[in-house]
Amino acid sequence: MKITGKQIIGYSNKSGAGSFKSVAIADNNSAPYVFEEGTAENVDAAAKKATEAFKTYKLIPTTTRVKFLEAIASEINSIREVLVATAQQETHLPQPRLNGEIDRTINQINLFVNLLKEGSWVNAIIDTANPQRQPLPKPHICQMLKPLGVTAVFGASNFPFAFSVAGGDTISALAAGCPVIYKAHFGHPVTSELVGNCIAEAAKKTGMPDGIFSLIQGKTTESGKALVTHKLVKAVGFTGSLAGGKALFDLVVKRDVPIPVYAEMGSVNPVFLLPGKLAEDAVSVAKTLAASNTMGVGQFCTNPGIILMVKSAATEEFLAQYKSSLSEAVGGKMLTDAIAGSYDKGIEQLRSLQSLKLLCAGVAGEGDTAVPHAFTISGKEFLKDKTLFEEYFGPVAIHVIADDTKQLTEIAETIPGQLTVSVWANQNDVTEFEDLFNILEEKAGRIMINNAPTGVEVTHAMIHGGPFPATTDSRTTSVGSQAIYRFTRPVCFQNYPQQLLPAELQNNNPLGIWRKVDGEMTKNATA
Ligand code: NAP
Repeated sequence: MKITGKQIIGYSNKSGAGSFKSVAIADNNSAPYVFEEGTAENVDAAAKKATEAFKTYKLIPTTTRVKFLEAIASEINSIREVLVATAQQETHLPQPRLNGEIDRTINQINLFVNLLKEGSWVNAIIDTANPQRQPLPKPHICQMLKPLGVTAVFGASNFPFAFSVAGGDTISALAAGCPVIYKAHFGHPVTSELVGNCIAEAAKKTGMPDGIFSLIQGKTTESGKALVTHKLVKAVGFTGSLAGGKALFDLVVKRDVPIPVYAEMGSVNPVFLLPGKLAEDAVSVAKTLAASNTMGVGQFCTNPGIILMVKSAATEEFLAQYKSSLSEAVGGKMLTDAIAGSYDKGIEQLRSLQSLKLLCAGVAGEGDTAVPHAFTISGKEFLKDKTLFEEYFGPVAIHVIADDTKQLTEIAETIPGQLTVSVWANQNDVTEFEDLFNILEEKAGRIMINNAPTGVEVTHAMIHGGPFPATTDSRTTSVGSQAIYRFTRPVCFQNYPQQLLPAELQNNNPLGIWRKVDGEMTKNATA
């Protein structure tokens, strides 16, 4: 499959300025691919095309939008083998994981397809008129969600499909009716171009307007900055590091016209081991958490980085098993050299802290690999050092041993925003620690009991978000069907003639969707 190394600007390929090389090697000449660096001019061209495309895309019937999304899934599936082989070279992730991620990406597209087909996501609300009302007649008022407009999307290196070019952010924005300009991650530019071409091809085949999708390549942050500050861009979806998300958020704040930034960032995903559960199941919990810590070389935003417990005999048993499991875990190659460098630096830093004791280290793999590590710290020392809540991206965990349950609760109060918090508890613990559950509800987007945090289901009820610093907007999710709401705004139509109203709001309910009419949910037509 031919790789151009250029920018995809709607239906054209455009040159950039400067270049960088891929990690992936081209089959024919055993050399890396060369990519042109996207420029501010490329971003401007994409934004102008996208703005034009929005004028027609927002009016396209849902059934046609559905066909576009389905075509994207089908294009991706049709080159699955090439995608897996390429992403494997670029990310060092194993084939089964990448194949599973393509399945997840396609399932994610199907989730939005079904959401659009069902139709009630637009939140149609109708308050019927009452011309006889005294002293003044009541007008007909209705509202529904409308797309925000051109959306900039950035994806992470650790999910080259599900949080990348055709990942949840792109698909939820397209489903909402927004054109997308995607800034490709420099860690997987070849995979990005291949998936970008799938979207462009799907757009052409289903008659979408030129500019509905563009893809900008770049190893430097310049094109990304130009993108979020472009005046035609109306929203930003970001998945990646706290440093990256916050930098882009800060740039957006300085714009003349504010726009929303939905940045989903890193997290340490605290895990609370309650005494009753630990006394019953210390060994199996330790095995499960050690596996969760080291899965995918620990490169998950839901990796359980901080594990908290109260000092006891069961705690000793837990730590002994955890140590034994982690000591046997073999390190793996990380996604990029930069991420591997940060991990090694982070471990060095943790090893140098007086307050931390090394519990164990895993086995170095072949070549340049990240070795799993675990540390312990007392609750008292942990409370003194806020920096320990920062994410060390990779296979590392800090075990916090509190003196008593009071100290455990005190620590819970200090937790900054998280994507997840998990609690391992038996029935007694659930009753005894009600206060703790109340505290934790304020800390994370998703709280779970007796489940490891890694593994995020793509469903309607999922929340993959949380208070800052997990995200820049705790009211939203980047995974699951609710992600669509980030790229919409409600528009109210007062005293509008039927012919001007969108189908979703017309009296006879031609789409047959659920609507709230005069305060009651119904599919009935209104008078
Ligand atoms: P990253 O380095 O922040 O990169 C993400 C994207 O943002 C890339 O496209 C990158 O561009 C761009 N970017 C970063 N800093 C920028 C800046 N200052 N200006 C303009 N663009 C900038 O993240 P990563 O290393 O790929 O991913 C690992 C991190 O993502 C971990 O912290 C992990 O926990 C987190 N993550 C979070 C989630 C979630 O759902 N919350 C999911 C997966 C991963 P370049 O490619 O040009 O560098």
